[in-house]
Amino acid sequence: MEADLETDVVVVGAGPGGCVLSYLLARSGIETMLLERHATLDREFRGYLFQPLALECFEGMGLLEEVLELEHERVRRPEVSIYGRSYAAIDFEALSGPYDYALLMEQPALLRLLIERAADYEGFEYHDRIPVRNLLYEEGRIAGVLATNRRTGEAVRIRSRVVVGADGRYSTVRTAAGIDPGRFESKLDLLWLKLPASAVENAARGHYGDAGLLLYFGLGGGEAQAGWFIPRGSYPDLREQGIEAFRERISTVDPALSDVLPNALRGFEDCSLLRIEPGLSERWVDDGLLLLGDAAHVASPIGGQGNGLAIADAVVAHATIARALSLDASDGPIPLGALAHYETRRRPAVERVVRVQRRLERALTALVLYGPRLPARLARPLLRTALPLAPRSPQARRTAELFAYGPEPVTVDDSWFVDREAQPTSGR
Ligand SMILES: Cc1cc2nc3c(=O)[nH]c(=O)nc-3n(C[C@H](O)[C@H](O)[C@H](O)COP(=O)(O)OP(=O)(O)OC[C@H]3O[C@@H](n4cnc5c(N)ncnc54)[C@H](O)[C@@H]3O)c2cc1C
Repeated sequence: MEADLETDVVVVGAGPGGCVLSYLLARSGIETMLLERHATLDREFRGYLFQPLALECFEGMGLLEEVLELEHERVRRPEVSIYGRSYAAIDFEALSGPYDYALLMEQPALLRLLIERAADYEGFEYHDRIPVRNLLYEEGRIAGVLATNRRTGEAVRIRSRVVVGADGRYSTVRTAAGIDPGRFESKLDLLWLKLPASAVENAARGHYGDAGLLLYFGLGGGEAQAGWFIPRGSYPDLREQGIEAFRERISTVDPALSDVLPNALRGFEDCSLLRIEPGLSERWVDDGLLLLGDAAHVASPIGGQGNGLAIADAVVAHATIARALSLDASDGPIPLGALAHYETRRRPAVERVVRVQRRLERALTALVLYGPRLPARLARPLLRTALPLAPRSPQARRTAELFAYGPEPVTVDDSWFVDREAQPTSGR
């Protein structure tokens, strides 16, 4: 990789948001450079749920068939067992919409597929081991990024007309642009661990008992991911009590796991701690800059919305950037005014999802902090509020629809797509 480069769009971060946007821009013949700080796309314990909204987007991108060839589980009617009694959580089959299931899958294979398909188009470049360190400013406007080539240790300077910060919850791009992440307070953390898929009876299931709340999800390919909510900052105490005590707590909630836990959970090194620290950044666009996915709004794990929000952002950002580039005859940074439509469109939708997540999180917090002291007759209704259980009530149904399809339809604008052989539409 050269030290001084130019392109139309630099996308920072190869997560679901950055990869979907890069594919859409590449397919639209727009010069795009996708930068990832890590050497590989292998990552564990990330968002695993791709709700029907994401499936609709994959269909619009012409990739759904290939996505469904990757290892996955389909979840139609996840259940939660509360003190041994089962309730349906979301019932995807009962919702109005084209898909009666959501996908559970790990991210790496999907990200690789998106990058491979983007690379079918001229003008797209993917570079790993290129951490972005700072933004490049020209005449007070964002005009590219400053990065490091980890292979050589050399500084890299990339000029671009739009920088997209898709670099996740601790976004360097957001920080460099001086944008406040708008964090909310949360009283919970979440511990993830892996189980053999054979140990779980359903693609997705939850168990609640006096010792805690356990959620698990099959991921296809013989593995399931399990989540255990703990009070914020209490992980050191849990570790202090020892792994055997933790295994016992999990087994109390789901006795069926007691045989597999000694192997699946040998020590705390088998766990991954997720700090729940949702937020809504104060602004998502500037001259030459657009933030999306977790960089714009750090997802809470409640309702597994992180992937869907990032993918929907990418779909709207694609149309906004393609239009802005086609209308701007200069070769400088795209002005804020031409990117503002993206934020005007996405912010109200994201805010609505975040509001509902925060309501559910309050009920979940009460359960995790005080649940063991509550009699089952009080814990049950609280849990039914915390998880959008059994869409019998109109409100639960609205929550289920919102989590499955988002607050508004998001459609891939394929009018920008070019033939595979076409040259980039614009270049410097
Ligand atoms: C550890 C972790 C656990 C999570 N757990 C859950 C969960 O349980 N449930 C849930 O719904 N969501 C979870 N999420 C969030 C979910 O994974 C995201 O919402 C989803 O992946 C969409 O995110 P994204 O594309 O915006 O960013 P991400 O998927 O976070 O991708 C950002 C990418 O940017 C790269 N990057 C970061 N900084 C730089 C830089 N300076 N230069 C170049 N590249 C950079 C990162 O390596 C990464 O590949 C988790 C996220 C993390 C990080």
